[in-house]
Amino acid sequence: MPGTEAPTHRKIQRLSPLVASQIAAGEVVERPASLVKELVENSIDAGATRIVLELEQGGIEMVRIVDDGFGIPPEDLPMAVAAHATSKISDAADLDSIATLGFRGEALASIASVSRLSIRSRTVSAESAFLLEVEGDKAEPVRPASGPIGTAITARNLFFNTPARRKFLRTVPTEQERCLDCLRAIALANPAIGFRAEADSRTLLDVPKDQSPRERVLALLGKELAPKLFEVHADEFDDTRGVAIWGMAGHPEIARGSNRSQHLFINGRPVRDRTIQHAVTEAYRGLIEPGRYPTIVLHIEMHPGAVDVNVHPAKAEVRFRDSGIVHSAVTRSIRKALASQDLTPLLNFVR
Ligand code: ADP
Ligand code: MG
Repeated sequence: MPGTEAPTHRKIQRLSPLVASQIAAGEVVERPASLVKELVENSIDAGATRIVLELEQGGIEMVRIVDDGFGIPPEDLPMAVAAHATSKISDAADLDSIATLGFRGEALASIASVSRLSIRSRTVSAESAFLLEVEGDKAEPVRPASGPIGTAITARNLFFNTPARRKFLRTVPTEQERCLDCLRAIALANPAIGFRAEADSRTLLDVPKDQSPRERVLALLGKELAPKLFEVHADEFDDTRGVAIWGMAGHPEIARGSNRSQHLFINGRPVRDRTIQHAVTEAYRGLIEPGRYPTIVLHIEMHPGAVDVNVHPAKAEVRFRDSGIVHSAVTRSIRKALASQDLTPLLNFVR
């Protein structure tokens, strides 16, 4: 019977690169939405102006991202899927001032280790597109293909080779919604970029490029919210010391029962951050019943050196050098936006 023998030492052996990378993938790739995040961020880093997401079966069967960015030259394609390989930083000092969304050089390698990945890419100077197909640690030789300038990355059959992880996936509608939530968040942060999402050939989201931040918020959150969203600007404060804040704060009437109505960004990255969430709650204290969440889109910008984004593999959490400054700047900027509106009837109503 297993478990009844006394434990004894088994020889220590180095894991194969594939297994090592499947383990590492656990940190970055949890579900189809993680693929969406990593692939779309790569497209943004590549200067894309239009990004198209295609999903099959909530992304479990297929996630594809097509962009019109600067592409990957054919000789670099094999490196793109190698572990710890990136074109975005080259030494530790670069970690202090990261200007791109990616820098860990792990996403494509991780995705390749747990799905069937293909990359088709074409640069301006190449005479054609080139295609690289990878499955596990087996890559086919790079070959010419047809395609426009930019990159199309397709990941099929997520976790086909790691069944234990596949079991944790939820239903198709749930996974699809998470993929779309992720794309919406990124689209809110990048109003100049056009985004489209199709699921099983139905268009679910389509926003044009070159929108203003307000146009983008209304396109994604709903035009009917226009009269209930108030502009937030923190550059009017002189004590924010390098923190700039902009966005829109919702009228307490459009508060929701879940914090999915809160869209928080730091230097263009969607984040979940307790300091900021707390500061938002604080700003709405007395205006919203406990347990409800204001609708808010808040972009916080600061020097890259004042915030560490390298604390979470998916970079969803950050660490501030001085969280007190951020907290008070957020609370005050929202209060100021709300104070300019007449919310009195509501104040009486809540209590
Ligand atoms: P990281 O983004 O952290 O550098 P990734 O594994 O996500 O690591 O990507 C590896 C490399 O592949 C990137 O550094 C970039 O050079 C290249 N790459 C990935 N996706 C794209 C894309 N859509 N367009 C152009 N280059 C890309
Ligand atoms: Mg990346």
